[in-house]
Formats: sequence, structure tokens, C-alpha cells
Amino acid sequence: MADYQLHAAHLYADLMNTYGDYGNLVALRYYAQQIGVDLDVSLVSIGDEFDDQQYDFVLFGGGQDYEEAIVAKDLPLKAAGIKRYIEADGPLLGVCGGFQLLGQYFLLADGTRIEGVGAMQHYTLNQPHNRFTGNVEIVNQETGQKYRGFENHQGRTFIADNQRPLGQVLKGKGNNGEDGGEGLIYKNVYGTYFHGPILTRNGNLALRLLEISLKRKYPAVDWSEKLKFVTPESF
Ligand code: GLN
Repeated sequence: MADYQLHAAHLYADLMNTYGDYGNLVALRYYAQQIGVDLDVSLVSIGDEFDDQQYDFVLFGGGQDYEEAIVAKDLPLKAAGIKRYIEADGPLLGVCGGFQLLGQYFLLADGTRIEGVGAMQHYTLNQPHNRFTGNVEIVNQETGQKYRGFENHQGRTFIADNQRPLGQVLKGKGNNGEDGGEGLIYKNVYGTYFHGPILTRNGNLALRLLEISLKRKYPAVDWSEKLKFVTPESF
């Protein structure tokens, strides 16, 4: 039995797991176990309530337009819980389709409008007959950390004034190919178009999210001190 325990929810893992987004949770657990923290994962999918009080971390992975349209029909059931979780500084990683669906709305490739959770202000337009595909490199403004990943999306996402990009694009297209931003940060929500998955490739970001999650759940412990001895892997 580990000294500390994190409970993670993997939203729609059975539908939204493009390129193995679940690997983000594997990466978090890999680092957590090195400092005596266990991380378990619950699948929260179609028809399930999302109980915001139960979770210390949430992953909402990516899917194609087809899966997103299915998931969008179920989101009203979870929307209030997801909003409460986010506003209570719950740590969340939204990848690609999950990142899109947390916002106001997004347009499928054919222009059909799909409503998002509405938990945040960003929105996603389409770009008929084109996709942004390839390797991406960004730099996070607050830390100077560089993150690397792979993007594959037709949606073009625009973030709001109360959100900031996860990073400035050094290579690749990012949110929309126009404003130089990739992903978003809002409170403890991290959104990104990086599949890969981002936390296996970018140990520095995994440690950042782990520290946020642990500080929120166990504020009396000096997590920065414990995490100083963990080496972030990067690929
Ligand atoms: N369907 C979305 C798009 O193409 C998301 C794709 C994904 O999650 N890779 O924009």
C-alpha cells in the first residue's frame, strides 16, 4: 500500500484514445510511484455520472469527428460536474478532441456544429479539405520548458482572454496555424493537440501536472522537495 493515493478519471477512454492517450496516465503513475504515490484510474464513459469530488486528475483524450459526435450527446450528463471540478482547480489534461469538447463548440470537417461542455471559452472552427499533421515543438512561457509532440487535427481552436496557450509554436501548426499558440492553460486545465502521448514524451510536463495534483490533495507535504529527486524522461 502506497503512502499516498491519486484517483484519476479517464473520460470516455473507450471512445477517445487516439494514438494511446491512456499512456499519459501510465506516465503519471510511473513518476508517482517513484515518490510513494499510487495512481488508480476509473473509466467514466457514456451514461456514467461524473462525480467531481472523487477525482484528483482527469484525462479527456482525443477522437475523430465520429466519436466526438457520439460523446457530445452524453456531455450534458457530465457538464455540471466537469465545470465544478475545473472551477475547484481540478487538474485535467484534455488532448485534441477532448480539448476541443471542453470548450464552447466545434465544427466537424463538414461544418456541422457540435456543442461542447462549455466549461471554458475556447471554440473550434473547421478547415475543409485540410489537416494539420506532423511534429510540433513549443516553448512554455512561464517556465521556458520545451514540449514536443505530434498533431493531427482538422479543427482550428481559438482560445479566450482568460486562457493562455500551453506554449508558443517553434515548429508545427498548433491551435489554428495563425496565432502561434499551442494548447491552453486555464486554472489547472491543460489542453493540447499533442498526441503521442504528451506526458510520456515530456517528463517535465508530467512532473508539473503530478506536482499540481499532489499539492491540491495533500497540501501539507513538500512535494517540490520530493520531486527534485525524480528524473524527467523525454523522447
Ligand atoms: N476530430 C478532431 C479534428 O480532426 C480531433 C482529432 C483528434 O483527436 N486527433 O480536429
